[in-house]
Amino acid sequence: MTTAQAHRTAAKHHPRRIALFGGSFDPIHSGHLVVARAADRRFNFDEMHFIPASRPPHKLKQHLAPFPHRFAMVALACTEHPHFVPSLAEAGEDFSGTQLHYSVDTVRYFRHVYHGHGDRIYFIIGADAFLDIPMWKEYETLLGLSDFIIANRPGIRTEALRLVIPPELMARPGTKKENGHPSQVVAELQRTTVYLLENVANDVSATDIRRRSNRGQSIHGLVSSRVEEYILKQGLYR
Ligand code: ATP
Repeated sequence: MTTAQAHRTAAKHHPRRIALFGGSFDPIHSGHLVVARAADRRFNFDEMHFIPASRPPHKLKQHLAPFPHRFAMVALACTEHPHFVPSLAEAGEDFSGTQLHYSVDTVRYFRHVYHGHGDRIYFIIGADAFLDIPMWKEYETLLGLSDFIIANRPGIRTEALRLVIPPELMARPGTKKENGHPSQVVAELQRTTVYLLENVANDVSATDIRRRSNRGQSIHGLVSSRVEEYILKQGLYR
């Protein structure tokens, strides 16, 4: 976060709603942006931070464009919305994006930055990724650090999402105040809530965009026009 940003948010006295949206973003595409805009409309965030994931050295063989390219595309896509912020939270001290970062530490970092009374952090995630969350480092801690907003994807039932949450993390019946939020709730945990965002998922995937680029096919409309221009100029995914 820049100093200017810190001052801007600190100047606001109302509790802040901060969304974190992490991903490989290789590249960031219209599927991500549809989810982001829908979540922003529903929850009215002060800021939404798009966090390209680092590429740790032991995964260098895995196909992933270098961090600077993925960050540049996220930054270009973020120009379309005043609340969208490209984040270097997982870039590492040398900004190379080659150090291993875990989501639980990233969320801790944001909680440290946004610690005003009533501030809340929301972690946006696709339903497919949420089903894998038990494999993440300290996922039980992570589930208690921020609210979650799950973008549902076709074929995934709410019950399946609930099943990945350990029962001991659930709020006991009657102990949680009704938060009055109109969104569908997957689960009330002791300190946090897991929300469901329905009818936002579409078929766009980064895998498909890389494949199309590789075959010389058009990716027009699948990524923002600035990102499309960047991919062409840099010759990515050929
Ligand atoms: P890849 O095809 O390379 O696996 P991806 O398109 O799934 O990539 P990621 O950057 O890995 O993109 O995704 C970041 C987050 O966005 C994940 O939580 C993922 O579930 C979610 N997501 C990606 N595409 C969509 C989509 N079309 N609709 C809803 N959520 C999505």
